[in-house]
Amino acid sequence: MAAEIDRPVEHDLTPSAAPPSEAPFVNRRDPAKALGPDGRPQVSRRAPKWADVPDEKWDDWRWQLSNRVNELHEIEEVLDLTDEEREGLSAPDKFRVDITPYFISLIDPHDPDDPIRRQVIPLGREQQAFTAMMEDSLAEDRHSPVPGLVHRYPDRVLMLVTTQCASYCRYCTRSRIVGDPTQNFNRKDHEAQLEYLRRTPQVRDVLISGGDGLTLAPKLFESILRGLREIQHIEIVRIGSRVPVFLPQRVDDELCAMLEKYHPLWINLHFNHASEITPEVSRAVDKLTRAGLPVGNQSVLLAGVNDCVNVQRELIHKLVENRVRPYYLYQCDLVEGSGHFRTPVGKGLEIIEGLRGHTSGYAVPTYVIDAPGGGGKIPVMPNYLISYSDHKVVLRNYEGYITTYEEPLEYRQHDKQSCRSCQQTRPEPGQSGVHGLLQGERMWIEPKGFEEIHSRGNVDAHRLQRPDKWVPYGVGAIEGQARTLPVLAAGGNGGGQLDDSMLPTERAATDTNAGIVDTETLVPEEQRDRSYGPGEEPRPREGEPTASAHGELL
Ligand SMILES: *Cc1c(COP(=O)(O)O)cnc(C)c1O
Ligand code: SF4
Repeated sequence: MAAEIDRPVEHDLTPSAAPPSEAPFVNRRDPAKALGPDGRPQVSRRAPKWADVPDEKWDDWRWQLSNRVNELHEIEEVLDLTDEEREGLSAPDKFRVDITPYFISLIDPHDPDDPIRRQVIPLGREQQAFTAMMEDSLAEDRHSPVPGLVHRYPDRVLMLVTTQCASYCRYCTRSRIVGDPTQNFNRKDHEAQLEYLRRTPQVRDVLISGGDGLTLAPKLFESILRGLREIQHIEIVRIGSRVPVFLPQRVDDELCAMLEKYHPLWINLHFNHASEITPEVSRAVDKLTRAGLPVGNQSVLLAGVNDCVNVQRELIHKLVENRVRPYYLYQCDLVEGSGHFRTPVGKGLEIIEGLRGHTSGYAVPTYVIDAPGGGGKIPVMPNYLISYSDHKVVLRNYEGYITTYEEPLEYRQHDKQSCRSCQQTRPEPGQSGVHGLLQGERMWIEPKGFEEIHSRGNVDAHRLQRPDKWVPYGVGAIEGQARTLPVLAAGGNGGGQLDDSMLPTERAATDTNAGIVDTETLVPEEQRDRSYGPGEEPRPREGEPTASAHGELL
């Protein structure tokens, strides 16, 4: 058969196969090409306050920035304010308010629940404290080797280049510094950040954020990009910006021509609701993609703004229509001012459950909780993996249909010795985490302070080492009738301490280092405690402090 195909197949390329020449095809489905009723590029609503501003000014990002509204009396000219909004706007120590004329014009002046409005107009409630509220909930300051540079992950850093934004989001996770001109970063800080990066070759990815780098003077922003690009070990640079949302006018040809010089460059925007994606935004995003930047989106799950699977679906569909890839959906941080925006985590899971499988995979963001205290972003997923045996994986799909995947019977283990990638991999000392367990580097990870307790021989400090702290109180145990277990039941794992008062059998069992001690075989029949049965677990007494890794958090 192969011999028959001995020359390339010729396609018929004669002009008669092409449509007759006529006006070039215009794709009206492209949101960046949407036309208004006047046949000109479509524009968003403009509040009456600015009706007389000439288009050249309105479309000029500098005019937009210098005409932002922040005082109650100015905002009142645009929106019908509620009493609680007046209270929020009058609060003396509030997080900065500043809204571009373009963005506030998108708000329905008569709808107090408008999703755009809720993001930028403060409410009195913003001042209320809540349990676990923190100023710097992600402990960014603690993870900053130099001011503004957060080095939390092994291979990438967050570089805060300014505290200024085009407008201010009420739930901002960095409200401790953002909006405050007295805490701004200057050229000297940028130089110190760059110097740290020059000396830190494990960093291959730099995320520029703030504040919002795109609010910086164009020359200054470019000098930062150039500084980064002069560092050979930095592979990619990412920009996190809300400027294209608050101020799409800023994304002009000049900016895109500048950005293009510093590839590979990625950008993540921040839309929370479909109504933020206007014709102006579509054109700005189109320019960014033409300049070769992959565009992503990060949303925050906000009560009263987007805590609904249908609102989220509309948002992500509009994003992908604009070639923006949904990246993260963040659980609202435990930051001052965000109390009334918080939703239960179950709401986020419900949203992901309603998206995954129900729509295109690349439209579904990863739902993450940015760990309070600074552990990094933790993905939170509904369970699709039901069970797992030595040869079958049991799965369920988005409809609840249950299926199985058969594992290969023979799988030749990957040979690390002959694998170039394995041999070249950079070590991550002390940071290999669960991956380290899978790689066989360690067998367990101990709770913080565990080793210290062992090395000091301070057995009292650890509940697992104190038999008298264990009472049988399992399923079926009768409260109040529980008695202290014989000493051996408290073996725990990791090997116990030897005690002279122990019976020889107890000594032997404790000394094995082999893990949980089998009380059934070691304790004579008449001494066995029968107040809990097989499968029932001893639990600490009520009010007893536990040293368990998870229990203490609850
Ligand atoms: C979000 C973040 C990053 C980037 O994380 P990715 O998951 O790679 O997007 C890096 N450093 C810090 C401190 C961050 O908060
Ligand atoms: S744009 Fe980002 S940094 Fe600026 S106020 Fe909003 S959330 Fe905070």
